[in-house]
Amino acid sequence: MFLSARKLAVSAFALGLVATPALAQDATTIARAETVRDRAMASNIALDYITQLTTRFGPRPAGSRSEQDAAAWAADYMRAHGFQNVRIEEFPLVGWERGEESASVVGDHPQRLVVAALGHSPGTNGVIEAEIVRFTSLEALNAAPAGSLAGKIAFVDAGQMVRMQDGAGYGPLTRIRGAGPSAAASKGALAFIMRSAGSDDHRMPHTGTTRYVDGRVPVPGFALSAPDADQLSGLVARGQPVRVRLSSTAHTYETHSQNVIGDIVGRTRPNEVIVLGSHMDSWDLGTGAIDDGAGGAITLGAAKAIADSGRRPARTIRVVLYGSEEVAQPTDTGNGGGAYLRGIGNAVDNHIIAGESDFGADRVYALGLPPGAQGSDFARAAAEVLYPIGVLTSQEPEMHGGADVGPLAGAGVPVFGLAQDGTRYFDLHHTADDTLNKIDPSQMSQNVAAWAGLVWLIADSDVDFRAMRATEGAGAH
Ligand code: ZN
Ligand code: ZN
Repeated sequence: MFLSARKLAVSAFALGLVATPALAQDATTIARAETVRDRAMASNIALDYITQLTTRFGPRPAGSRSEQDAAAWAADYMRAHGFQNVRIEEFPLVGWERGEESASVVGDHPQRLVVAALGHSPGTNGVIEAEIVRFTSLEALNAAPAGSLAGKIAFVDAGQMVRMQDGAGYGPLTRIRGAGPSAAASKGALAFIMRSAGSDDHRMPHTGTTRYVDGRVPVPGFALSAPDADQLSGLVARGQPVRVRLSSTAHTYETHSQNVIGDIVGRTRPNEVIVLGSHMDSWDLGTGAIDDGAGGAITLGAAKAIADSGRRPARTIRVVLYGSEEVAQPTDTGNGGGAYLRGIGNAVDNHIIAGESDFGADRVYALGLPPGAQGSDFARAAAEVLYPIGVLTSQEPEMHGGADVGPLAGAGVPVFGLAQDGTRYFDLHHTADDTLNKIDPSQMSQNVAAWAGLVWLIADSDVDFRAMRATEGAGAH
């Protein structure tokens, strides 16, 4: 389908049926974008927002009182900073609470293990004590004979995640986290444990959600810290049976979450909307500073810098603080991105573009544009504004956005991405160490500047990313 659509576009272009895409960005617009960029760099609003958010509300699990109160506060914060049409959009949610948990190796030399239950894992309903069976991959667990784990605990240790600027090592580990409990249960296991999806070597387990299969998470799942995974693997390697005791009072409950939405209404084309997304909820172990208080801080700071520029841009800039990004649901209706898409109905056609900030607050190094914008006049203007603050244009087009704006992308809204340096992100992500002191204010300011400069260019122009067609070769990497 993609190929034939592209072929069609190319032949239409060849016949002269499609005008040259995207009007050029004029020198005045670029100069204004540079001014907005530099004002944003000097602004303190992002640091103020994230300091207040993490200090006042602490952890903000989806559907919790803390997430709900933080959303109400953030709506007031938007109003106080001049946003218009500020509203809270509620949606029902199956919430999850961790309760109390513990794990230990039992026997003659008992050892405490540092674990965190995986999100939406059921509790142990008392204590589970059983022998460990170790696997080095999800594939190996899937290949275990039916019934071979009856009365046992499955342990997947796929090795330590490698630090990378783009965080590429994370994806394979999320597959283990998502599918592991169901795979273990299908072989008869009583519980599932895994080495954390994280790149640090500290005694910090990394939580994160597991997946529902047929409406349920069948057995309790836990993440071990890296040194605890080393220890358990070392014990198994000695060849003697290793028994582990697990307990957890984790449970689900009916609640609601909500999106917080606020606009900087456009001067001349207010119906044309640019969405800047991030999520308000966090995991319960830390205070959700890098994941994802930072995204709200960066996008609010950028929108505010544009609003304060003395000239309201032509199009509407909409900041959406999505609820409930982190959690799985028994059905596919539960997250904030889906609720927003349902809420706008046909207005999705007026959404010019969307972008998401959900990778901490370390510096932006690359801009990803929709396929048709690669090599366009718009791309050249964006490069001119972003290069001086260290942001290069990526050769890879941006296709999906992220979990929050993903539903918009799925409905045909073009997306952009400002890629951040994620080298240390997965040291902290989903751990008790995701706290305010991990935010580097100067790097966060560079993020705000990049968002403000880029979004100004989009907002005070008539560039139409939907009308742009990928030229032959663009996006073929
Ligand atoms: Zn996130
Ligand atoms: Zn997260």
